[in-house]
Parts: sequence; structure tokens; C-alpha cells
Amino acid sequence: MEDKRKPIMIAIIVVCFVLAIAITIMTRTSEEEEILDAIDPTEMTWVKCRNPNCEALYEISIKEHAIFARENRDPETGIVPGMVCKECGDETVYGTEKCDKCGAAFERGSVPEDFTDRCPECGYSAEEEKRKASRRRRSR
Ligand SMILES: [Zn+2]
Ligand SMILES: [Zn+2]
Repeated sequence: MEDKRKPIMIAIIVVCFVLAIAITIMTRTSEEEEILDAIDPTEMTWVKCRNPNCEALYEISIKEHAIFARENRDPETGIVPGMVCKECGDETVYGTEKCDKCGAAFERGSVPEDFTDRCPECGYSAEEEKRKASRRRRSR
């Protein structure tokens, strides 16, 4: 009696297990889709080519960058490879910070132990300005 029921029980457990994995994967992708959908397609971000002979600096949409990151991210290391440069064609284009004040392009966190968007050229930080502004608003 018991011996006949056992394979059915195992089959049910296996099916449940597979279903659980499928649901987890499906929810994860739909969550990511939702995040991507929430990005305003007109919002732009700066990217810079790391090819020393090119150093092209241009804007792409944040959405495009996010989709690229999702599709090309290394699942083990989480590292996103460079995008194809529209100027030189090499896969050496990465997101960059661009100073609102002097226009210099730099890597996030160029100034250690400071705001990650602190400009190493002129010392301006949009994040710092934002915090100062909200502090002023609160004290009023
Ligand atoms: Zn380039
Ligand atoms: Zn600057």
C-alpha cells in the first residue's frame, strides 16, 4: 500500500518544487519589468567612452542603459560590460558623472570619503546642493 503511494508523493513534491521556482523567476522578472517601465524614457544619463583615443562623451536614455544592464549583466559577478561606443564602435562606454557646473566628466566617487558626485575639477556636488536646499526648507 505504502509502496504504491510513495512515487505519487514524490511526484507531487517535485511538481510543487518546480512550480515554486517558476513563480519566483516570474515574479523577479516582472518586478524588474516594472522598475524599467517606471523609468521616464525621456530622462537622460551621461556615458563616456574609456577608449583613450576616443573619450566620446554623450547622453543616452536611462531606460536604454537600464535595459542594456539587465540584458548584459554577468549573473555571477554582477558586472555590466561596456556599451558599444557610437563614435569608435568599441565596447568601452560606461555610465559617468558630469558636473553641472563646469561640465567635467568623472567617475562616481572620484573624491574619497565625500559625496560620490563631487566634481574633482571644481568641487561642486549636486547631491550636496540638494541636501543643503532641503535643510534650508526644513529650518524655515
Ligand atoms: Zn569611443
Ligand atoms: Zn565641476
